[in-house]
Amino acid sequence: MRKIKIPVLEPVLDGNEKVYVTECLDAGWVSSKGEFVERFESMFSALHYDLTSVSTSNGTTALHLALVALGIGQGDEVIVPDLTFAATVNAVLYCGATPILVDVDVQSWNITAEIVGPAITNRTKAIIPVHLYGQPCDMAPLRQLADKHGLLVIEDSAEAIGSTYQGQPVGTLGDASIFSFFGNKTITTGEGGMVLFQDVEIADKARILRDHGMNPNKRYWHEVVGYNYRLTNIQAAIGVAQLERLSQLVEAKQALASKYDAAFSNLDVNMQAKLPGTTTSSWLYGITLRNKTERDALVDYLAKKGIESRTFFYPMHQQPAYQALPIMGEFKISEKLADCGISLPSSASLSLSDQDYVIEQVLSGLELVRTAT
Ligand SMILES: *Cc1c(COP(=O)(O)O)cnc(C)c1O
Repeated sequence: MRKIKIPVLEPVLDGNEKVYVTECLDAGWVSSKGEFVERFESMFSALHYDLTSVSTSNGTTALHLALVALGIGQGDEVIVPDLTFAATVNAVLYCGATPILVDVDVQSWNITAEIVGPAITNRTKAIIPVHLYGQPCDMAPLRQLADKHGLLVIEDSAEAIGSTYQGQPVGTLGDASIFSFFGNKTITTGEGGMVLFQDVEIADKARILRDHGMNPNKRYWHEVVGYNYRLTNIQAAIGVAQLERLSQLVEAKQALASKYDAAFSNLDVNMQAKLPGTTTSSWLYGITLRNKTERDALVDYLAKKGIESRTFFYPMHQQPAYQALPIMGEFKISEKLADCGISLPSSASLSLSDQDYVIEQVLSGLELVRTAT
């Protein structure tokens, strides 16, 4: 057995992170004031057609802030995928709105306009497409559908910084879009998040909500009930260093994914389909096996070989926290993907030899598992 464990994802922090954090400490700007917050936001905007960037304490607060700023509230329905990280659903609930779960597409593992269409009612206010594992949703038909019904589109791009759709960066396609900089995301600030807004006035509103609802020109004067959802200068300093090497990190992940694809191309497994006209940041590489027994056995096998792997997210509709939601329709694809999916080590820092070892173990593990079952 190997002594060193190969993690599914680990942050890469060997750029200017330390230098910039030291600058914050030396200058005493450790809280949410200081030059790095502005620098991080303006660098982020520059990567996204100069849309307005509002940094937040994490991706979940980014989602909540975006929804509140866009006016989502009590009585509204928001369509979300059944297969996602819980934050997508939770943020809708924080607003007092109702998440309407829908199944995902078998090829892309994402929601599509065909799936969302039948879930629209006269209470629907917004759609939250999640670009799962970095693969962009097919946004043009979703936007068309949204426009037809007067709905907002909020992209959950938490996993998809660096992905593109028809040549446009993911996050520039919705009325707002959110990103996460949690430790396992493509770029990290430890904890952190960002909202991109199309509308500058809504972005201004979000800034006020993020800062306790305080009037920016009159300290301690509150016209709305706000939150403290600010990113700190230290976190932003890390973020600036991470953004400096975003393309390098994304390219490393894309190279890993291509190599996995090639290595597994002759196996009876499924990969997440790459839609024509999209590029994926390949945040987290996953495949689906034939059934749950096989998948669980491979996870165990890899663990014994010092390789961490993950199952996919559990479908939201199955979880205790969401039993009070109006559950409509079936979630056959989401259930199947959750049963059969396995995510493999995808860190930008994964060495070629470590990836070779992972591939070797997946191939031998799967062969063993399949002859045994
Ligand atoms: C990570 C993630 C979030 C939220 O991120 P946090 O920064 O951990 O709050 C939201 N949605 C999706 C799909 C994510 O993967």
